[in-house]
Amino acid sequence: MIRTEHVRYEYERLDENGDPAGVMTALDDVSFSVSEGEYIAILGRNGSGKSTLAKHINALLCPTGGTVWVLGMDTAKEENLWPVREAAGMVFQNPDNQIIATVVEEDVGFGPENIGVPTDEIWKRVAESLEAVGMTAFADVSPMRLSGGQKQRVAIAGILAMRPDIMLFDEATAMLDPRGRKEVFETVRELNREGMTVVWITHVMEEAAQCETVHIMHDGGLVLSGTPQEVFSDRERLQNWRLDVPPMAALAQRLRAAGVGLPEGILSIDDMTREVEALAAHL
Ligand code: ADP
Ligand code: MG
Repeated sequence: MIRTEHVRYEYERLDENGDPAGVMTALDDVSFSVSEGEYIAILGRNGSGKSTLAKHINALLCPTGGTVWVLGMDTAKEENLWPVREAAGMVFQNPDNQIIATVVEEDVGFGPENIGVPTDEIWKRVAESLEAVGMTAFADVSPMRLSGGQKQRVAIAGILAMRPDIMLFDEATAMLDPRGRKEVFETVRELNREGMTVVWITHVMEEAAQCETVHIMHDGGLVLSGTPQEVFSDRERLQNWRLDVPPMAALAQRLRAAGVGLPEGILSIDDMTREVEALAAHL
């Protein structure tokens, strides 16, 4: 579905007078792939290159070196630019920057209208998309009256109405309160269950821990890929990239060191609850 081979990207750097001052290598030899229906996390601290990589997947940026294929289309080819942008929809951090219209349903219909979808079909898509994110009841409300989590769900509906094959989320929960985060995360998980391919970019360990595959970026390179269990098994290794294991994994590790019989692989509060209950059943 997505494949990158030896991708390199250099930003032009400008000096204080606005003159070219060399280049900044933001991606360095990144190769990875995402299969249809997969739910991957791209995890890394600030400045590691996550957003730059995401922008390559929907052809907002074109690699300086190497190749990016989306649905078999080479993103460097001019004729693939718009098909790739339509295939891979991106949801950004700030919901307020993504909402344009003054009524929710108009906002969701904006994308398809822009690409010339017939009116009947637009309304059908708007209804389906709002349903998919659980926002049907807010169709005729002003987006200004919504919470951050609700606005972000409207932004997701707006992308869904474009019928993408892939959805990219670039720190899409970073500006939300815990409840909004949960709302959005669960909405996306449901979309994935129904078959959507999801690329979830985050610097939050707990979020990455809930994805199928985790790719860790550091200084523009992809340094580790694996299941959450594999990636979060070695705390010292993660600290090389200034990342930590999810809080529940750290707690489980401390408890194990203190002699509590907890298994490896605990990553979430749900895992911890289940294992502690299993222990308690033997007391
Ligand atoms: P992340 O999303 O992981 O925080 P980014 O992809 O935004 O990382 O940035 C990767 C590197 O590229 C950083 O060092 C950043 O400063 C640099 N960078 C990002 N955008 C630009 C830009 N428009 N011009 C120059 N350098 C940039
Ligand atoms: Mg970023």
